[in-house]
Amino acid sequence: MSVLHLDDLDLGPGDVLILVDVQNDFLPGGAMAVPRGHEVIAPLNRAIAAFRRRRLPIFATRDWHPADHRFRNTLPRHCVMGTRGARFAGSLALSSDVHIVSKGADGEAYSGFQGTALKDRLRAVGARHVFCGGLATEYAVRATCIDALDRDFTASILLDAVRALDAQPGDGDRAIAELLALGVLPSEAGAHHVVERRV
Ligand code: ZN
Repeated sequence: MSVLHLDDLDLGPGDVLILVDVQNDFLPGGAMAVPRGHEVIAPLNRAIAAFRRRRLPIFATRDWHPADHRFRNTLPRHCVMGTRGARFAGSLALSSDVHIVSKGADGEAYSGFQGTALKDRLRAVGARHVFCGGLATEYAVRATCIDALDRDFTASILLDAVRALDAQPGDGDRAIAELLALGVLPSEAGAHHVVERRV
């Protein structure tokens, strides 16, 4: 599998970044914490910088449930609009020009397209190719990528900027394999240069 680094992609008009559900409730300590979910923030911030440098649009989806939302039996109360848990991660480098997409007003919505105007809003900014990263791999990221393909966008998944809930071990890896088989392209935002230290 050849994974393209964002810096090696000739990003240009038509390319759009989608930050998927990078909210406190999905980060360690949150109501529906994704293990190591905070690790998506550094690569996503690099992706944000890459898109911003080229003045390309950036979207951020969020789970945004009304206070009287009836959560499904198995799900804890999470991402209630206006609460700290629903807020985007404080260390995510968002700015006022980011297009925010709220979902989950009536029921649980994994995909950023479900029950929202995301498709039209993407078309309005000339999007053809969406680059997705965020939380969690096998839920919101998977569903958003699949819906993007269904709506005739090209979709890339930022493999170093997603983390899985892995309720069943391997769920995240299986979702990635499924997405790649469907035609989602693998890319990465760029890893930290980690200096290996011998002990
Ligand atoms: Zn939800």
